[in-house]
Amino acid sequence: MTTAVTKAQPADYETLLRSQSYIDGAWVTHPDGKNFAVINPANGLVITHVPDMGAAEAFQAIESAVRAFPGWRQMLARDRGRILRRWNDLIVAHADSLAMLLSTEQGKPFAEARGEVLSGAASVEWFAEEGQRIYGDTIPTHKADARVIVTKEPVGVVAAITPWNFPSSMITRKVAPALAAGCTVVLKPAEDTPLSALALAVLAEEAGIPAGVFNVVTASLASAPAVGEVLTTHPQVRKVSFTGSTEVGKILMRQSASTVKRLSLELGGNAPFIIFNSADLERAVEGAIGSKFRNAGQTCICANRIYVQDGIYDEFARLFTERVKALKVGAGDQPGVQVGPLINQPAIDKVMQHIVDAQAQGARLLCGGAGHEAGSLFFQPTVLADMTPAMRISREETFGPVAGLFRFHDEAEVIRLANDTAYGLASYFYSRDLGQVFRVAEALEYGMVGINEPLLATASAPFGGVKESGIGREGSHYGIDDFINIKYLLVGGLSVTP
Ligand code: NAP
Repeated sequence: MTTAVTKAQPADYETLLRSQSYIDGAWVTHPDGKNFAVINPANGLVITHVPDMGAAEAFQAIESAVRAFPGWRQMLARDRGRILRRWNDLIVAHADSLAMLLSTEQGKPFAEARGEVLSGAASVEWFAEEGQRIYGDTIPTHKADARVIVTKEPVGVVAAITPWNFPSSMITRKVAPALAAGCTVVLKPAEDTPLSALALAVLAEEAGIPAGVFNVVTASLASAPAVGEVLTTHPQVRKVSFTGSTEVGKILMRQSASTVKRLSLELGGNAPFIIFNSADLERAVEGAIGSKFRNAGQTCICANRIYVQDGIYDEFARLFTERVKALKVGAGDQPGVQVGPLINQPAIDKVMQHIVDAQAQGARLLCGGAGHEAGSLFFQPTVLADMTPAMRISREETFGPVAGLFRFHDEAEVIRLANDTAYGLASYFYSRDLGQVFRVAEALEYGMVGINEPLLATASAPFGGVKESGIGREGSHYGIDDFINIKYLLVGGLSVTP
């Protein structure tokens, strides 16, 4: 096996690095030995190969989740919570190795990868507790001899499909509430980043999650549609929870219609980041750097359109560009690196196309604008000024380290521009005018609004979007509702007198 890790490996690294799928409590290869390579985007080296499973294996995984469901569902919520708590503890204990794996397969700097692993563990910890608080209701009766009771039940087998940009936390955000609610899960991770998913399964097994309760089916880009079709059409799968692009979300939604499955969709975004004249400028610059360049700009909640009001536009552009020029680009295992490689060549191509399109329509390049000497998948952090709504960056997620600055004059104008998109995931604005804070927060058509704050995600708050950014919420007590069916019991014929 060729290994792509250059940083010293902790002792548990090899135990967590798996090259098999995890189905029905067993580590399995493809029956014909079909597999695909997992590549380190920083240097193009093969980390390992994993099975390229297809429809048959997805079917087997579902069948195992169906078999495991009654036992897992009947377990006391407290006991499921204890197992999840052990899973959390193991993830935290192995955070360094999990982060190294994540950084190696995905590219993000080690410190960021460690942050993701721990935030993913926080979801497991949070739902380990929340699973014990799935309360029902009694409703005042409409008949003297009857009682109206509402109970809550797990939806059943859940299919989860996750993206490459957060290979660890996107999994635990779905799997933890599903398991806490008493559901069983079949997970298909992204082709680019299956290793974090398999490492989580190693620890789930060690934590005592029974066979069949959590399954991981790895598949290549070419096999994803076949696996996805089984996951979205199998009658025993009762819910599909997907994080990824809006385009693929629509396909899965259409496929799920055939059996009317419950759906949670965490889809694409096109976040506006608005800085009003009244903002604390230093704080806004800092926030914009964090929001735009985290994960090399490859997050669904990344600032994609930075709107700056007239009065501070030039000063903001100067301070922001200075900070961007100072960002350190390099492989995730190098000390002090802030911006890693992009995931693949199409990602680089898209970034370049967005820059060329903007410049052709009059945008000014303040810094960056080309590939980086660190390697073929690295890109210079870039700032463009004088952006307009006609440019592609206005309409599409760039998903790369490119910040476009738009000038605006007044509040009404910027709200109109910010809402002029099919997406509605994250939005941000910076203002110290209290009236403006509430006016703008209420006017933005988004599932989440960061006000003087760029980092929104936390286990205890509802993460999700409106419009074409999706359906449902992850995190918080709202996040567990997505894995629960409500059942209404009407108990009649009760004698009113003894
Ligand atoms: P993607 O292409 O939609 O892929 C997401 C997942 O779907 C991957 O596992 C992919 O497998 C799989 N997939 C693709 N086609 C499929 C099909 N026909 N049937 C079943 N599965 C299929 O998205 P991505 O490029 O990995 O991720 C980036 C996108 O995710 C961005 O749009 C980003 O905004 C969004 N995102 C949203 C959130 C949120 O919380 N709203 C969070 C993170 C990311 P392969 O990898 O094998 O293609």
